[in-house]
Amino acid sequence: MAKAQDWLKATPGGLVCEPGDFTIDPTAPVDRAVVTHGHGDHARPGSTHVLATPGTIEIMRTRFGPGAGASLQPLDYGDWLELGGVKLAFAPAGHVLGSAQVVLEYGGQRVVVSGDYKRRPDPTCTPFDVVGCDVFITEATFGLPVFRHPDDSGEIAKLLESLRLFPERTHLVGVYALGKAQRVMALIRRAGWDRPLWLHGALFPLTDLYRRLGQDFGELKPATGASKAELKGEIVLAPPGALREAWSRRMAEPMRAIASGWMGVRARARQAGAELPLVISDHADWDELTATIREVGAGEIWVTHGREEALVHYAQGLGIKARALAMLGYEDEEA
Ligand SMILES: [Zn+2]
Ligand SMILES: [Zn+2]
Repeated sequence: MAKAQDWLKATPGGLVCEPGDFTIDPTAPVDRAVVTHGHGDHARPGSTHVLATPGTIEIMRTRFGPGAGASLQPLDYGDWLELGGVKLAFAPAGHVLGSAQVVLEYGGQRVVVSGDYKRRPDPTCTPFDVVGCDVFITEATFGLPVFRHPDDSGEIAKLLESLRLFPERTHLVGVYALGKAQRVMALIRRAGWDRPLWLHGALFPLTDLYRRLGQDFGELKPATGASKAELKGEIVLAPPGALREAWSRRMAEPMRAIASGWMGVRARARQAGAELPLVISDHADWDELTATIREVGAGEIWVTHGREEALVHYAQGLGIKARALAMLGYEDEEA
């Protein structure tokens, strides 16, 4: 049996599969890219051939236009193809729309590259699928036992409670444009808020794509150009970076909230200017990471990036071979 590290290599350019002649989530343009999902640290413009799920390809087209790649090949979850003797399929990762784990079979071995993932239900994407394998390659953005994300409905309840307590204030919620924005809107609707949601212009292109692919977020209105009076007591969603822009100072005593897994870290919430931090993460927390390692049944775990040491130690404690790849370029600011 071939050793996985002989045919799948962690390089500064991404995970390179030599017999298949492709790179997973390349950090710079390559001839053949396999892309796990549409976030900017994983999907980058300029590669020649791109293989990804149909959802990820649509996201790349929306973000990069013709720069998404010279040829874009969609592959549905569960379908197989062969590249240079390497069998490849995608399985849902539960991270954002279209997000995939890459399942590779070669030399009698199965390797699963998880990409970014979470195990919590998310109304805007297909849930994570546990795929048994010999080698499981995982991220560890929240790979410390202190990271335990609360239930997302409780976080949305905090937002709606604040609107009840401060009905004069515009509630400005910082959300990453891909995934978090749409998940938060879907959760707000589930919690029963039926007034229009107001959006920063930067959130529309991807939100419109989600709507074209069948998601319903109720009535959405552009916040740009709306008057101070119109936005009183309303929910406005914007990219986190826009919270400090002059744009938001025109609002009625804005209550600044940010939805992110990082909001569990008090210093980060303060630094980001979040008066109302909402711990809503699109990444696995410690319990989800460790449960996944147990469930996939792999004899070997590779940890790509994040807080790798504790997870490596945890896996070794279970008698699993584990190593940290210390890959750079996958920042997960969107967590
Ligand atoms: Zn991501
Ligand atoms: Zn990432």
